[in-house]
Amino acid sequence: VLQLQDVHKLFGDNHVLKGVDLEVASHEVVVVIGASGSGKSTLMRTINLIEQVDDGRILLSGDDITDPRADVDKVRSRIGVVFQHFNLFPHMRVIDNVTLAARRVHKIPAADARARGVDLLTRFGLGDKVDDYPDRLSGGQQQRVAIVRAILTDPELLLLDEITSALDPQLVGEVLDLVRSLKDAGSTILMATHEMSFARGVADRIVFMHQGRILEQGSPEEILDHPREEATREFLSRVM
Ligand code: ATP
Ligand code: MG
Repeated sequence: VLQLQDVHKLFGDNHVLKGVDLEVASHEVVVVIGASGSGKSTLMRTINLIEQVDDGRILLSGDDITDPRADVDKVRSRIGVVFQHFNLFPHMRVIDNVTLAARRVHKIPAADARARGVDLLTRFGLGDKVDDYPDRLSGGQQQRVAIVRAILTDPELLLLDEITSALDPQLVGEVLDLVRSLKDAGSTILMATHEMSFARGVADRIVFMHQGRILEQGSPEEILDHPREEATREFLSRVM
C-alpha cells in the first residue's frame, strides 16, 4: 500500500529525515517508535503531504504522491489521519464532524454519510453522542470520534500520530481498543506511539527511528526484547 524510497526532509539546515526506506503492506499494522525529535511526526506529515520531501519518493498503491503534479486533495482523501490533539470542529455536532469530508470531498450523499456515521459511532460505543457537540465529550470519546471521521470513507491507509498522548491515562485504553478492532477489521495502519505495551500487542512490525533514520525494524519480539542496536537498547531502557 505504502512505499517510502530514500525520503529526505530538511528544515533549514536541520536534516530531519535522512533517507527513510519503509514499506507498509495491505492490512499491516506498522508502529513507529523512537525518541522525541527522531522524526516520527515529520515522517507521517510527509506521507499526508503536509510537508514536502526534499528528496526521494513516496508511493501510495503505486502512485507517486510526491510527484509535483499529484493532486494533493485527492491524495489526502485516500488517507485517514488522526493526530495527538483531536481537532474536531467545536461548532459542529459529532455526526457533522464525522461526515464533513465524506460529504464535501467524497461527494457522498448526506443521508448515506449520516447512516454510515451513525453505524460506526454506535459500533464504537458513541451511539448516544451522535447529536452532541464535541465539548460535551471526554477526551477519549473525542479521539474516538476523530478516528471514526478518519475511517468513514474506508481510506487505503490510516496514519495515527500519538493519538493517546494528550489523554488522561484512564482514557487511553478505550482509544487503543478501537485501534485494535480496526486492525482486526483489516485496516492498514502506520502509527507512532509511546505506548510500548500497545505496540507489542498490536504491531505486525515495529520500526525504530533514530536521528532521522530507521535504525532497525522487526517483529515486536525482535525490537522490544532482542534489539540489535545500542541506541535501541538505550531508548527502550528509558521508556519501558
Ligand atoms: P515527538 O516524539 O516529540 O513527537 P518526533 O519524533 O515526532 O518527536 P518530529 O516532530 O518529527 O519528531 O521532529 C523532528 C525534528 O524536526 C525536530 O528537530 C523538530 O524540531 C524538527 N521540526 C519538526 N517540524 C518542524 C517545522 N515545521 N519546522 C522546523 N523544524 C521542524
Ligand atoms: Mg511527534
